[in-house]
Amino acid sequence: MKGEVKGIPVRVALRCRPLVPKEISEGCQMCLSFVPGEPQVVVEEVFNTAVAPLIKSVFKGYNATVLAYGQTGSGKTYSMGGAYTAEQENEPTVGIIPRVIQLLFKETDKKSDFEFTLKVSYLEIYNEEILDLLCPSHEKAQINIREDPKEGIKIVGLTEKTVLVALDTVSCLEQGNNSRTVASTAMNSQSSRSHAIFTISIEQRKKSDKNSSFRSKLHLVDLAGSERQKKTKAEGDRLKEGININRGLLCLGNVISALGDDKKGGFVPYRDSKLTRLLQDSLGGNSHTLMIACVSPADSNLEETLSTLRYADRAR
Ligand code: ADP
Ligand code: MG
Repeated sequence: MKGEVKGIPVRVALRCRPLVPKEISEGCQMCLSFVPGEPQVVVEEVFNTAVAPLIKSVFKGYNATVLAYGQTGSGKTYSMGGAYTAEQENEPTVGIIPRVIQLLFKETDKKSDFEFTLKVSYLEIYNEEILDLLCPSHEKAQINIREDPKEGIKIVGLTEKTVLVALDTVSCLEQGNNSRTVASTAMNSQSSRSHAIFTISIEQRKKSDKNSSFRSKLHLVDLAGSERQKKTKAEGDRLKEGININRGLLCLGNVISALGDDKKGGFVPYRDSKLTRLLQDSLGGNSHTLMIACVSPADSNLEETLSTLRYADRAR
């Protein structure tokens, strides 16, 4: 029982961006330093050491989730590739999602004895509502989360695009990123208060045995900003937003800590938010989870940085 409840532990990587020009011009100082040789920081190494192994497990049939956590401005979107445009294609700073896509197709090319069907979807959870980033006009349509005994968590009403090559897939990312930017300008930085989830689902079949099909999913999540909402200024809609955003992040924290805790008799509160419900079959159990805690090195952000480190420590 014990082993079943605990499953595979959540891995945590810490990524600290450099000071940005605005912080430098405001006279901010670096308040973080790292001890070389100690296992606390992974910078450009995040992909090779932490993400690439997840891709291997996805091909073995496991579900996997990569979560970028941190305050607004700490580098979540930059790290995930949520600001990706085609011009960045071969730059070393390109984010995790475009790299994952390249690696996935490299692997499918290698496995010539298998046939693959890859599908992507890209959604945003804002105010506990699901928005379809690959078809923004679906915004108002009913998108519901269902549990299918065979396929696990399914999102009914969401666009799923079948992709044949890396280029198609990266275009979906770009298209969704665009929808996200448009929404955020219209609605006063919606993106910092929403969770964005890019999902790649893979079905594999041995060419010699068409009945051997199995599926797995990889979720790449750019979480809402973890900063506390200022109570005094939040009213009406803003307050509601604040509460809902905190609900997703709070529930995620509770789920992750329940996964690492034997004492609660195995109960994991997945149903308490859309975010955790949607990730239910890809967090804990036999799924592989990586949390990338993003922090700013500026002294002006020290308090939020400490709070991110505490959250990450709880997940470990
Ligand atoms: P978040 O999504 O967490 O709100 P962003 O990814 O938008 O934060 O990053 C905030 C700013 O910091 C952006 O201007 C981004 O270009 C810059 N930035 C983030 N990470 C890095 C990095 N590793 N190197 C250089 N600049 C970065
Ligand atoms: Mg962002």
